[in-house]
Amino acid sequence: MQFALKVAFIGLGNMGGPMAINLLKAKFNVTVFDLMPQAVDTLVEKGASSAATAIDAVKDVDVVISMLPAGKHVEALFLGDDKQQGLISVLPKDCLVIDSSTIDTATAQKVGNALAKESIAFIDAPVSGGVGGATAGTLTFIVGGEKDDFERATLVLDKMGKNIFHAGPLGAGQTAKICNNMLLSVLMAGTSEALQLAIDNGLDPKVVSDIMLQSSGRNWTLELYNPCPNVMPNVPSSNGYEGGFMVDLMKKDLGLAMDTAAKSHSVTPMGELAQRLYTKHSEQGKGKLDFSSIFTLFSNPSKKS
Ligand code: NAD
Repeated sequence: MQFALKVAFIGLGNMGGPMAINLLKAKFNVTVFDLMPQAVDTLVEKGASSAATAIDAVKDVDVVISMLPAGKHVEALFLGDDKQQGLISVLPKDCLVIDSSTIDTATAQKVGNALAKESIAFIDAPVSGGVGGATAGTLTFIVGGEKDDFERATLVLDKMGKNIFHAGPLGAGQTAKICNNMLLSVLMAGTSEALQLAIDNGLDPKVVSDIMLQSSGRNWTLELYNPCPNVMPNVPSSNGYEGGFMVDLMKKDLGLAMDTAAKSHSVTPMGELAQRLYTKHSEQGKGKLDFSSIFTLFSNPSKKS
């Protein structure tokens, strides 16, 4: 059997839209569905077929990809709830389901195990790389599931991403992804704090960034995503913190990380602090800004004129 010839793509938002476009560019036969007709129209203009419902979208498909906001949406889509029939009752037996949403590990496992009972393969495949990576087709996919299903999925995933990792069994993709994002939040907050300390003591943030880049404080945020405005071109901090990865999405991922830590009785004081900082920042009305805007939380109000 050939995989990825007929793909249903459900959830065409900031991430799903450009990901589906990359599948069309790769000449897959893509049927799309989203609750927002505008999002569907954009894809139809690019060559996709539209379906009136998610159930219609998955008829005779080889692969289903979902890119939805949260676990409750993924569970309702596949297993159903009081408002909708789950796809589980209509999916072809030999199809492969790829959920690329960032959701809690427990829901990914619940959906995957339920589908497995019906002989439907499922992998959790959350992504890193943001809207820029989704558009450029350079996402990192972090996959949990059976090795065979992972290998089947690579034919589709490599049209949307550059790095594809098998993290482990069902749910491992989600766990690895939120560990990465917890670390990222800590690095971003720590880098912001250090840069502001340097500024408060009369140093030039560009000079300090160059020093730290060649010293032991070097990290991804300094290399590619400096949070201090005008240190680096073409990053959200130099564009009023517009675009990029929203504070509220980082807050969501930190919530998932803390839930995971609670279940595994892990000690995560740095993650807890990052969650508090991002929550405070969001509550100050910054939820829609890029997550590097956490930098602004560190400027001392008493020094402001
Ligand atoms: P989004 O809100 O832009 O898009 C979600 C889409 O899902 C919307 O178009 C919505 O109408 C649709 N939708 C919701 N419920 C649906 C249903 N039952 N059936 C069909 N469509 C439905 O979100 P996004 O930014 O594209 O993020 C999607 C997922 O990717 C999230 O889990 C997010 O955490 C994750 N993610 C986002 C980014 C990012 O930078 N935006 C980066 C990495 C991971």
